[in-house]
Amino acid sequence: MPALFERMTVIGVGLIGGSLARAARAKELCAEIVGYGRDIEQLRLAVELGVIDSFESDIAQAVEKSDLIVLAAPVGAMRDLFLMIKPHVRKDALITDVGSSKQSVVDDAAQVWDELPEGFVPGHPIAGTEKSGVKASFAELFEHRCTILTPVPQSAPWAIDKLRKLWEGVGAEVAMMDAHHHDEVLAATSHIPHVLAFALVDTLGRMQERKEIFRFAAGGFRDFTRIASSDPEMWRDICLHNSDAIIHVLHLFRKELDTLEDAIRSKNGEAVKTILQRAKQLRDTNVVV
Ligand code: NAP
Repeated sequence: MPALFERMTVIGVGLIGGSLARAARAKELCAEIVGYGRDIEQLRLAVELGVIDSFESDIAQAVEKSDLIVLAAPVGAMRDLFLMIKPHVRKDALITDVGSSKQSVVDDAAQVWDELPEGFVPGHPIAGTEKSGVKASFAELFEHRCTILTPVPQSAPWAIDKLRKLWEGVGAEVAMMDAHHHDEVLAATSHIPHVLAFALVDTLGRMQERKEIFRFAAGGFRDFTRIASSDPEMWRDICLHNSDAIIHVLHLFRKELDTLEDAIRSKNGEAVKTILQRAKQLRDTNVVV
């Protein structure tokens, strides 16, 4: 049986692009996998590791024969990449991305194409780690995780169907959502936790007792701050490209912190316990670990 795709181009062979390439290869979903990026040494390494078959340093050659193009670079690079691939993509190519914000990707594409291609279907795998780069990639990353597709009105049914098959083929469960709604949900579940982890570590790092703080860091601190090891460039882009939704949740969170602070200052144990109890119950009943 022929593979789902003849030739996949991964633009940005890092953690997510590399993991998708590895998984697609392991599941025989793509006959050939080509990489594109800025750092030729990283692309060479990706070939050595067996993540991609080959790479191109010229983006036209990277995309012109491909029936699947996956943009897996930081969201701040998407607009320029769309501009670069536009003259070279096949009419029947499926063009997708894995960016963590979705409305910005749709807006970037709409600025580049007068009429969005029918093969354009944005996506976002809800899977990752705090590590970056092709060395950190692994084929099982998407298994039993969710991938959200955010098709636009121009996305053709064949393109949505093939993209769903790709993600299901690598073990993900596929959900569909409007891009704006995706950004509101992900601001709360992913972007705010990252912002808080970065801010907490930064705050503590500027305290006089920082040496002791980090030396005696226990499990709770490690759990809460693991994601502050994530790539700052990628997270800067996410903050800037989903700013409205992030600011909205930050505002709510600040109000909640003020309430908790007031309760602690006034030694109102009942009020403190009510907040903690409510949070514990919500987490215990809603978060699958
Ligand atoms: P990563 O490991 O740092 O990989 C990013 C890749 O993009 C690198 O291979 C980099 O290679 C390439 N790149 C950067 N700027 C580029 C540009 N201007 N043109 C072409 N290639 C460029 O990052 P990642 O974690 O895989 O994240 C990639 C995307 O996935 C981001 O949009 C992110 O929002 C999204 N995402 C991340 C996670 C996560 O947990 N990490 C989860 C879901 C989605 P060169 O430097 O060689 O160009």
